[in-house]
Amino acid sequence: MNRRNPFRGAVTLDGPSGTGKSSVARGVAVALDAAYLDTGAMYRAATVAVLDAGADPEDAAAVERIVAGARIEVGTEAGTERVEVDGVDVAVRIRSAEVTRAVSAVSAVPAVRRRLVDQQRALVAGAEAVVVEGRDIGTVVLPDATLKIYLTAAPEVRAQRRAGQLGITDAAAIDDLAADLRRRDEYDSSRADSPLRPAADAVVVDSSDLTQQDVVDHIVALAQAPLMTGDRT
Ligand code: C5P
Repeated sequence: MNRRNPFRGAVTLDGPSGTGKSSVARGVAVALDAAYLDTGAMYRAATVAVLDAGADPEDAAAVERIVAGARIEVGTEAGTERVEVDGVDVAVRIRSAEVTRAVSAVSAVPAVRRRLVDQQRALVAGAEAVVVEGRDIGTVVLPDATLKIYLTAAPEVRAQRRAGQLGITDAAAIDDLAADLRRRDEYDSSRADSPLRPAADAVVVDSSDLTQQDVVDHIVALAQAPLMTGDRT
């Protein structure tokens, strides 16, 4: 890290599922000595609240009511994952297939987005340097961010990576993963409120042929460019 000119400000990291966004975002946060916020974890936590209440994730009125009454808390350190709903640790549950299936419907409800976006902005306001990952961070949550990255990768590469993380080798199961990724992309990109798309001023990084470390190094170099650290000498 450049100690003379530490990074100050916000790096946003948006993009579809399975691009390695979370690992990259954590790596960038560590390298920049910055806080880290995983906004997907917040939508997943909201989904846990909906499922625990026995509601249909497609029932927008019920989703709105349940999420309004739930206390969702997340940590902002890259090295640890703290996710709680009403004081209960849900860090493992939010990654379950049940939650993954329902989260796009819950996150498409405008009142849920308003509530969580307010919370995201409040968390970011307290940090001098922060890396925030999600779908709408550069477009909606932090339109004035210092550096905006939109991370993509070819769909088959994304399905293979997800399979590797989950230890899946069966071809049919990998096809299922690819179908699930496509379904979520389609849902997230076509929703009326805050659809997934790159901000006009985002740097688009295609990670298909890059290692995770390559991507981290590239983003850290962009963040440490003189303009970003305010050093114009
Ligand atoms: O990033 P992750 O896969 O954990 O996000 C889960 C889901 O949460 C996404 O598929 C999307 O529906 C929703 N999400 C969102 N806006 C964000 C972050 C996540 O709508 N900023």
